[in-house]
Amino acid sequence: MTMTSLPLPTLAPPSKLTGLPVAIIGAGPVGLAAAAQLLERGIEPIVYEAGPQAGSAISLWGHTRLFSPWEYLIDGAAARLLGDTAWERPSAQGLPLGSELVDDYLVPLAATPALSRRIQYNSSVTAVSRLGMDRTRSNGRSETPFALRIQTDDGPVDRQARAVIDTSGTYSTPNSIVASGLPLLHRGSVQDDIVHALPDVAGADRSRFAGKHTLVVGAGHSAANTLIALARLATEVPGTSVTWAIRNTNPVRVYGSADDELAARASLGSRVYTLVDEGAIALIDGFEIDDVVAASDGWVSVIGRRAGETLTIETDVVVGATGFRPDLEMLREIRLSLDEIVEAPRALAPLIDPNLHSCGTVPAHGVDVLAHPEPNFYIAGMKSYGRAPTFLLATGYEQVRSIADEIAGNREAARTVQLVLPETGVCSTGDTSGSCC
Ligand SMILES: Cc1cc2nc3c(=O)[nH]c(=O)nc-3n(C[C@H](O)[C@H](O)[C@H](O)COP(=O)(O)OP(=O)(O)OC[C@H]3O[C@@H](n4cnc5c(N)ncnc54)[C@H](O)[C@@H]3O)c2cc1C
Repeated sequence: MTMTSLPLPTLAPPSKLTGLPVAIIGAGPVGLAAAAQLLERGIEPIVYEAGPQAGSAISLWGHTRLFSPWEYLIDGAAARLLGDTAWERPSAQGLPLGSELVDDYLVPLAATPALSRRIQYNSSVTAVSRLGMDRTRSNGRSETPFALRIQTDDGPVDRQARAVIDTSGTYSTPNSIVASGLPLLHRGSVQDDIVHALPDVAGADRSRFAGKHTLVVGAGHSAANTLIALARLATEVPGTSVTWAIRNTNPVRVYGSADDELAARASLGSRVYTLVDEGAIALIDGFEIDDVVAASDGWVSVIGRRAGETLTIETDVVVGATGFRPDLEMLREIRLSLDEIVEAPRALAPLIDPNLHSCGTVPAHGVDVLAHPEPNFYIAGMKSYGRAPTFLLATGYEQVRSIADEIAGNREAARTVQLVLPETGVCSTGDTSGSCC
């Protein structure tokens, strides 16, 4: 009798990635949305959050009202998770404070049974690499787990992941107020006189500004919020005054447009315009700051150039509202493809670079423009915009929906982007061809 041997089933060798979660850096709105989107696709996320609770960065500007109504602030997959709880969806048209975005959405979302056991707080990711492979090693790279170094209350630990989504935002890395982008040369002597963007002028920080002269530096919505609060304080406390310094020769991006489809954003700009027009805010445009030094009687001198001349502004306090930049140091071992100017993913940059396109209306986009040479590594949310200022949460939610589909192998869905964002109605590049917005 002859024996015919049956072919043995071929078993794929177990991948080194099998069983590993997708690591998400940051439990802000976009990080939590990423986790919810992955869970819907049966993929295990783990979220590392530097702060003690979800939305820790937003809590730092919790006194500030958002200009987007709730309808643009809640991710679809997150809402479906919350739908299984006693959560009450806020009214679509309401404009929350930052603190309400945290308390009425992010904290309940992070507390859902599905997410609560997948978030680790007080866990700051300090570095990302591949297991046993620095960025110069190529062989088998895409099959090698990511290694994340995480600073916890008990010291540093290393954790592995099959993919990484960096949604750590930019709030902790503000831009310098110095025109060169460098830190202040004489920082030590004046650091107490220079305040991070968005101080709580009407609340906790009121005494810092009451009866003082403040110089607000910057031309974005953060500057606008602070200017309005300081102008109001000036009507309440004698001796309070406010000067606004911008680098551009025209604050059109702050003033905005009556055609802005986000009414609250338009109103922010028009209030600043009126306050400048009425003389409540002294505007100094075209001012390039070189340094800030301590002056006599507790004043500081802000030294710069305007129209080719040296200009010095004496003030009590400086509010640096010159925007933010991404912290790329922790990604030194990751192969990134970033635009040289805005430090955003290379394909995304032309859509958001304020030199080319400052209107703030950015077409929604997905994984195609967010990919890096490092397989399965993504930067999403505020950080994906690098130094560009116009990020909207709705954009971030669509980014992570697309990334989740890509990780789940739904390539077509990942590339079908349907979100339409509200137009700002303003174009400040001087481009009249209509290509800007
Ligand atoms: C004042 C202000 C008003 C805004 N208003 C609007 C608005 O009306 N509409 C709108 O659409 N957008 C608005 N934005 C823009 C944007 O939507 C928000 O900044 C939003 O918070 C971005 O979400 P994010 O999840 O990308 O980042 P973040 O909210 O910044 O969250 C990042 C999280 O990562 C954590 N983290 C940071 N580093 C690490 C690390 N190394 N390891 C672990 N965790 C880390 C932080 O603690 C934080 O919790 C506003 C922004 C500001 C500053």
